[in-house]
Amino acid sequence: RAKEEGKGRYVVYDKSMHTAFNERMNIEKHLRSAMNNNEFELYYQPQVDIQSGFISGFEALIRWNSSELGFVSPLSFIKIAEDSRLIVYIGEWVLREACHVMKGIHDRVGSRYKISVNISVIQMLQDDFTDVVLDSLAVSGLMPNCLELEITESIFMESFDSIVSKLEFLKSRGIRIALDDFGTGYSSLSYLQQLPISTLKMDKTFIDSLADKAYSQSFVQTIVQLGHNMGLEVVAEGVEDVSQLAFLKEAGCDKIQGYLISRPVPVSQLEPFLKPEKRYGV
Ligand code: C2E
Ligand code: MG
Ligand code: MG
Ligand code: MG
Repeated sequence: RAKEEGKGRYVVYDKSMHTAFNERMNIEKHLRSAMNNNEFELYYQPQVDIQSGFISGFEALIRWNSSELGFVSPLSFIKIAEDSRLIVYIGEWVLREACHVMKGIHDRVGSRYKISVNISVIQMLQDDFTDVVLDSLAVSGLMPNCLELEITESIFMESFDSIVSKLEFLKSRGIRIALDDFGTGYSSLSYLQQLPISTLKMDKTFIDSLADKAYSQSFVQTIVQLGHNMGLEVVAEGVEDVSQLAFLKEAGCDKIQGYLISRPVPVSQLEPFLKPEKRYGV
């Protein structure tokens, strides 16, 4: 009996493990052909300068419409792409495509917009990372100061010194660096000081809690002040309502991004956001 029970438990355990493992394997398998099948697309989410109300740029966010799996969220496949190193190829495509699209926009409507591109730590560890970034600019013709690379606090877990020197080199060429999801990861303030960043992106969780946690307002104010004292621009992510915007404006936050302005949209739906006279805000 004991043996049977044991066996039964083993089977149940094994099944769920098996399912999770299979799902990962399945995503990885289809990721491998996604690039050749043109299944990736970039969506763009506007960022607004709070004081002026003008759109200052866009964040490029990858979308995967798999012929086999349907739409798969980046939250489900980026990690798998990193573990399998496919992110190196996918990320290079994202960078080149984002630079190309933004240069096209500049040629049509003027060069006032920046493009922000999410970069995985796996990409930054590649020997040719800085070459790929500079080549993306050279091929597209985009100005370096219109490109912002979004990195996350996960770089603190890796070859920190080597990544910092690559980022310093890119910054010296005029490229901007943003620290994404700030406040959720591994950063200590002493590491933060060593990073050649120009922008802090305050994580959405701080914005979400503004309404219901008494101390969260002082958290947000403190992050804005910290950023400004370090000479950084501060962006709030995930802004969904006007009261959040009003608070951020009062706190002196520089930019917002979120559903309040727009969800990320495909390039075909960008036109309404490229009207220079249009202002957003409170
Ligand atoms: P992230 O870089 O922090 O991007 C912000 C995420 O928040 C995006 O999710 C965006 O659609 C979502 N968001 C923006 N405003 C709001 C809002 O007001 N409310 C809510 N609920 N969500 C909002 P998305 O596009 O699903 O991307 C998730 C994450 O996947 C990104 O977080 C980023 O870490 C990663 N990712 C996306 N595209 C790429 C890429 O091209 N390369 C790499 N390495 N990672 C990417
Ligand atoms: Mg980002
Ligand atoms: Mg973020
Ligand atoms: Mg995030």
